[in-house]
Amino acid sequence: MGGTPGQGRQAGGTPRAALADLLAGNRRFVSGQPIHGHDVTAAAAASGDQQPYAVVLGCIDSRVPLEAIFDQTFGAICVIRTGGHVLDRAVCGSIEYVVGQLGVPLVMVLGHERCGAVGAAVDALRTGERPGGSLAYLVDEIAPAVTGIGVDDPAVHPLAIRRHVGRTVRTLRDDDLLAGPVAAGRVAVTGGLYDLATGEVALLDPG
Ligand SMILES: [Zn+2]
Repeated sequence: MGGTPGQGRQAGGTPRAALADLLAGNRRFVSGQPIHGHDVTAAAAASGDQQPYAVVLGCIDSRVPLEAIFDQTFGAICVIRTGGHVLDRAVCGSIEYVVGQLGVPLVMVLGHERCGAVGAAVDALRTGERPGGSLAYLVDEIAPAVTGIGVDDPAVHPLAIRRHVGRTVRTLRDDDLLAGPVAAGRVAVTGGLYDLATGEVALLDPG
């Protein structure tokens, strides 16, 4: 089923309308009344040119399936997922493509409670044992959020999760190809936090 496109899905939509649509989808999800079933007819209906209205960067966590928690159908949002929504050039390039080539007005960075990637960074800083392989990259990218809170703070994990969302938002706002559209108000980069237990997305002020 295709559902009813909201204001955010109109061509040339504003960041505000896109955010309203995204949050309306989360309210449908939370209330147990999603309108998108992810069936093959929805895939076929969206098989022409894509006109997504938002891009969501989230974590790989299996408990946070982004199209489901925002109740979005095929063709509605672009989704990028990395451990702890850590940025790299491929992620930034993908967002630049979606904003610059597809005209998407909204970028949402979505963190979540009990994030294992942030937990790994906390553990690495507490123990002084940096993980091997490319996991070290994730930990290194998250570490400033942990040290910004203080590794000995009893609430370092939940606070670092929020701080890391803010850092990611600010980094994207300063991105070479995003800074101009953001300054002009054509594009918004917004932070959010997902509650694993309730399914709710709360907006975060990145500071
Ligand atoms: Zn996570």
